[in-house]
Amino acid sequence: MNDAIIKELGRIVGPDRVLTKLESRYSYGIDATFHQAAPDAVVKVLSTEEVSRVLKVCQREGIPVTPRGSGTSFSGGPIPLAGGITLAMQGMNKIVEFSKGDCLVGVEPGVITGEMQKMVEAEGLYYPPDPQSADFCTIGGNIAENASGPHGVKYGCTRDYLLGLEVVLSDGEVINVGGKTIKNVTGFDLTRFFCSSEGMLGVITKAYLKLIPKPEAKVVLLVIFKEWAQGGQAVADIFANGILPTTLEIMDDVSIKAAEDYGHFGLPVGAGALLVIEVDGFKETMERQGNAIAEICKKAGALEVQVALDPAKQADAWKARKALSPATARLAPTKVSEDVTVPRSKIPELVVRLKEVGKEIGLPVVIFGHAGDGNLHPGILTDERDADQWERAHHGIELFFKHTVALGGTLSGEHGVGYMKAPFLPLEYSERAIRLMKDIKNAVDPKGILNPVKMFPDAKNPLKSSAAD
Ligand SMILES: Cc1cc2nc3c(=O)[nH]c(=O)nc-3n(C[C@H](O)[C@H](O)[C@H](O)COP(=O)(O)OP(=O)(O)OC[C@H]3O[C@@H](n4cnc5c(N)ncnc54)[C@H](O)[C@@H]3O)c2cc1C
Repeated sequence: MNDAIIKELGRIVGPDRVLTKLESRYSYGIDATFHQAAPDAVVKVLSTEEVSRVLKVCQREGIPVTPRGSGTSFSGGPIPLAGGITLAMQGMNKIVEFSKGDCLVGVEPGVITGEMQKMVEAEGLYYPPDPQSADFCTIGGNIAENASGPHGVKYGCTRDYLLGLEVVLSDGEVINVGGKTIKNVTGFDLTRFFCSSEGMLGVITKAYLKLIPKPEAKVVLLVIFKEWAQGGQAVADIFANGILPTTLEIMDDVSIKAAEDYGHFGLPVGAGALLVIEVDGFKETMERQGNAIAEICKKAGALEVQVALDPAKQADAWKARKALSPATARLAPTKVSEDVTVPRSKIPELVVRLKEVGKEIGLPVVIFGHAGDGNLHPGILTDERDADQWERAHHGIELFFKHTVALGGTLSGEHGVGYMKAPFLPLEYSERAIRLMKDIKNAVDPKGILNPVKMFPDAKNPLKSSAAD
């Protein structure tokens, strides 16, 4: 990118908000995956007008633009593979509207999800999507990835709370889609169209989100089974008994041992499955619901059931599950994690198949995730410095995807495609469906400047293209 353009961008946002030093550019070229790529410049925007003016320059010059929230993506979305500019959105972090009566909050995209959640909870309202990264990811990144978390089983994903958006298109034009009402069927649903768009269709500069009343109370259960299949049976029985948990998390034997070695929580090493189940609602119903779930789990063969009604014990029940990322990361020099999702009833079979993959490739597989909504995070324990192991891990990931799709599932429940899963899109979508997605991209961004080299299998990724990278 030449000096004249850097100067022109500097005149829009101020020269101190255009970063060109190599170390600054690399700092904005990473996410939670294994790779990095430096943009030619980082532009830190503070207003919709600045975004619009920057995009007009980039459109005119054909410069790639990669929007970036907090860079916590697990799929490579904010890595500026094609160079150009990284549009740093974190400075657009104001809450622009809040209405208790309308159960609505209006936010700029750089607002940190967890901070907004705390703010609305102090007012007795609740924003349920709960990515585990909520303390540091942004609402803009959540919308672009349609993020969700353990609460997804009862409350759904980010898209279920989107009422309206302000978006800057690739030519710099600003549009508003949706609005502030719960009902809105005027025209195509362009609000959801921009959800999950991974920064490829427009830059989100404002969002109106639906809130719900904050649940009064919750009960948390920690349940341990000798066999994995008993845990799977309990999951099925809970739903069959008409109970809709807020969260229903599962851990396999490898994760239980890893958590115990890491945090000494008193878990029985050798157990085959651990469930953390949470139900929320009216205070008076919590004990009854907790006991009902405990009975169901005991009938399914639970070794141990803890029912926690007070907040301190509830926090204890979550400790092992919350420690899993660091605990399992210690198991091998490299852990390659995935995000596969199947209909809930297929989880027991998926787990059997994923463990078989581990045997086939000769590498351990660790499995935990959101059993309540069918979204598992299986990981392959490997060492990327060992070419043979690395090759086998790549093959294992491909097999994970094949089994998932064969069971009616999807490559990604919450982390998105980015460049990581781009080569595997044809496993899930027909050639015609992928062409339709490309046609849509071309119609909205004819010069292809918005987050190029992502999503599509033929995207020319300058980095090694593999799900496990
Ligand atoms: C420890 C950890 C735990 C996680 N747990 C979860 C989880 O439970 N559930 C889950 O869903 N994800 C999870 N994630 C993944 C990640 O946090 C989410 O995908 C999150 O939504 C990314 O937000 P971000 O602000 O970091 O966005 P970034 O990573 O910066 O960007 C993500 C994508 O959004 C685009 N984008 C960002 N801002 C905008 C904007 N304003 N307009 C248009 N496009 C934009 C980027 O171009 C990129 O494609 C986790 C990540 C980590 C590191």
